[in-house]
Amino acid sequence: MTATVSGNHGLQQAEGLLFDFASLKRTGVDMPAPRGRPDRLGGLGRKVAPPLPGLSEPEAVRHYVRLSQKNYAIDLGLFPLGSCTMKHNPRLNERMARLEGFADLHPLQPMQTVQGALLLMEELSRWLMTLTGMEAVALSPKAGAHGELCGMLAIRAALIARGEGETRKRVLVPESAHGTNPATAAACGFIVDEIHATDDGHVDIEDLKKKLGPDVAGIMLTNPNTCGLFERDIRTIADLIHGAGGYFYCDGANYNAIVGRVRPGDLGVDAMHINLHKTFSTPHGGGGPGAGPTVLSEALAPFAPVPLITLHGENRELIEHSEGTQAFGRMCAFHGQMGMFTRALTYMMSHGSDGLRQVAEDAVLNANYLLARLKLHFSAPFGERPCMHEVLLDDSSIKPKGVETIDMAKALLDEGYHPFTTYFPLVVHGAMLIEPTETEPKRELDRFADVMIALAERVKAGEVEFFKQAPKLTPMRRLDDTRAARQPKLRWRRGENSGAAAKHAAE
Ligand SMILES: *Cc1c(COP(=O)(O)O)cnc(C)c1O
Repeated sequence: MTATVSGNHGLQQAEGLLFDFASLKRTGVDMPAPRGRPDRLGGLGRKVAPPLPGLSEPEAVRHYVRLSQKNYAIDLGLFPLGSCTMKHNPRLNERMARLEGFADLHPLQPMQTVQGALLLMEELSRWLMTLTGMEAVALSPKAGAHGELCGMLAIRAALIARGEGETRKRVLVPESAHGTNPATAAACGFIVDEIHATDDGHVDIEDLKKKLGPDVAGIMLTNPNTCGLFERDIRTIADLIHGAGGYFYCDGANYNAIVGRVRPGDLGVDAMHINLHKTFSTPHGGGGPGAGPTVLSEALAPFAPVPLITLHGENRELIEHSEGTQAFGRMCAFHGQMGMFTRALTYMMSHGSDGLRQVAEDAVLNANYLLARLKLHFSAPFGERPCMHEVLLDDSSIKPKGVETIDMAKALLDEGYHPFTTYFPLVVHGAMLIEPTETEPKRELDRFADVMIALAERVKAGEVEFFKQAPKLTPMRRLDDTRAARQPKLRWRRGENSGAAAKHAAE
């Protein structure tokens, strides 16, 4: 890219680290130092100011606006990140979440002053239980992975109550599972045992049967699975697990494909987290905290963590302590992400049950439209059959030409798209997992498909160097993610990082 004097590229402003240009002496506030006041810190007050960068207000505003313009966002364009369900966040949700009565609550407020908030939590619980056909829900988990922990702790508590806490230690996890599944099982003290996938991307039932036994605590399964396929044998899988005395944990991250169409409770699921930030449109990915309410079957409901909402006459109350109950404990301080509860319930109520069903149908329709266009130009390993809400491609049509999945992802950046999910699931080679969601209009799907197809043409034409050079238009080119993760630079030293950043920006 042409170097500019300023380092800016068109209207995109170059921006360095705050520490490089801020001065310790500058401040955005102008208050006289208090005089003649007794020291109430017992002499422990700082002698020198902390070495934090000082900025005037306009400098601070510009710094963060400049950084924000380097970001990609669902409000900018299609965000095809598979398994993440990056859908539009309706503005109505935001208005409701900002209502004072919800936004300005304190978790320690007296119970009689938060009756509306408790009613909202109860209503959200009712929607979640009705949609999933389950007996109970724990609202407090703060992300999908946290919900998995909640479900698996409930399973562990149920096994302990049965006197099998020490004997049932093995959790079966399919090869295609998201990494959080085995991590959760291991964190709960279980041993992870992998189940193979069949050639058509499903759980291998024969392998599952072989791995059942009196030491099996349960299975953790995603449906639709991470290949974007519905596990048609799910009832059989549930029966097999239950027959062997284990429980069925379903990873509900892909619930967007089936919400309003299928009730996981009818499929034999015992516990499932629901990512409100995926299926129910609350912002995620730098946009706000997640929320992973976990629904539980009749068998696991007694072990649900506190807090629990109960009715005392007209008044709702929270039971905060597990003494005298079978609750396994609690997931976090306080009650969960109130703002996300408000957004999710707003989303549910504005769609209604028929609208939520249409969410699933349109999400699947959009994915199949992309599949139909892309499979003519890429290898789609399970593409002979319709997919659910995401399209899985592998690298077998590009790798022989010298182009890798990562190169495709980098080329997409130059075209103005956040890349698809790369190299996940692991069951296919060089996976490219694309999830459009239902909120993309046909025009956007076509733009994205046109870009992907044009890139496929370049691969066919042997333009390997084009891909290896990408991205050319981003503020930073190819970064060494692995090194950044393994050898993170966590301390700033004057003059050390800044030069490299400025050089990159100008290249
Ligand atoms: C997103 C996701 C998770 C984890 O959810 P978080 O909210 O990111 O913790 C688990 N499993 C699958 C399949 C996912 O896509």
